[in-house]
Order: sequence, then structure tokens, then C-alpha cells
Amino acid sequence: MGKRRKRRKPIIRRAPRTLPKVFQCPNCGMKTLTIDFDKNTKKAIIRCGSCKLYAELEVPTAHHEVDVYAKFLDLFFEGKLEYTFLEGEESEAKEESSESTME
Ligand SMILES: [Zn+2]
Repeated sequence: MGKRRKRRKPIIRRAPRTLPKVFQCPNCGMKTLTIDFDKNTKKAIIRCGSCKLYAELEVPTAHHEVDVYAKFLDLFFEGKLEYTFLEGEESEAKEESSESTME
């Protein structure tokens, strides 16, 4: 009778628009950094769920999270980023590593 064919169903895993929304925090190294956009102020709100780092960044509205993250990292490592810590009861993250900063 009929030939039996194994039907191959290629499983294409396409994550539907799942851009990474959680990033690695440059301060504590945990992957708990989130970026939100405030449409009113046109600012990106950067928050870390671990060390409670909080920063605001003015960004063009066309920016995506990854772009903001890149900019955020640049500023952070250049020491130009203004940030604070929310609920900073434990001030463990107070290590000022003064690496060779050429200015
Ligand atoms: Zn952190």
C-alpha cells in the first residue's frame, strides 16, 4: 500500500520579537538590569533588580533598549553617568575602583 514517509516538521524557533529586555548590570554583574522608557520625559529609566542601581538617560525616541544599554555602559565606564541606588540600605556596592582613567 502507501509508502510511509516520515514527515519531517522542521521546527523553526523564531522568538517573536523577544529582544533582550534584561541586561547585565555593570555594577553588580547580575543580569537584572531593566530599561524602561518614559514617554513623557523622553528618558530611559535604567534599573537593576539586584543592587538597585537607578539611572536616567535622555535618549532619542527611536532608541531601543540595546542602544540605551550600550550608551549606558559607555557613560558608566567613563564615569560620566549619574546614577543612584534605590532603597540603598546595604551599601555593599561602594567600591570605587579607580582604574586608569585617561582624561
Ligand atoms: Zn546591579
